[in-house]
Amino acid sequence: MEIEGHEPALSAWNIDVLEGKRIEELRVASQQPIADPDNWLGAELRRNILLTTVDYAVNWARSRSIFPLMFGLACCAFEMIATAASRFDIARFGMDIFRWSPRQADLMIVAGTITWKMAPAVKLIYEQMAEPKWVIAMGACAISGGTFRESYSVVPGLNRIVPVDVYVPGCPPRPEGLIHGIRLIHRKIMSESIGKR
Ligand code: SF4
Repeated sequence: MEIEGHEPALSAWNIDVLEGKRIEELRVASQQPIADPDNWLGAELRRNILLTTVDYAVNWARSRSIFPLMFGLACCAFEMIATAASRFDIARFGMDIFRWSPRQADLMIVAGTITWKMAPAVKLIYEQMAEPKWVIAMGACAISGGTFRESYSVVPGLNRIVPVDVYVPGCPPRPEGLIHGIRLIHRKIMSESIGKR
């Protein structure tokens, strides 16, 4: 008998059917993959963590913060000065100011004709620079003595008195040439290892 306003009583059969449905729903839900509570972590790590080597980090910092020592000896020096001025602006490479003290410099740019009278000063200043240090020979005169190679008074190449890392040819080389030489110094620094040093 049904009483108005009340749900009809379920039969034992219907109760079994409902129970079976709930069990089936639970069973299906239990087979779904469980959501990983740390799912967000992978994307976060990929966004915020860089893996690198000590060598790479040190070399990257060194190559982007070179302190150049200006060693202008003749006409090539004007192109070196122009390289530092606003048009070519080597501050873009972290080389804001030319240093006048070897103690504050790690790249010596020798631009111009080196006379034997000047050679001891070039060597002394190179030796006063702290390690690590690099040298650029800028222009034909610094590379090999250039036009004055046969002269009694001219050093036939900077590498006769100090080790040279990069040679920038030309008489004189343009600022773009010197910038290319500086980029080669960067590449050389990036290939170095503090362990081997
Ligand atoms: S290479 Fe040419 S421009 Fe440079 S110092 Fe020698 S003569 Fe002068």
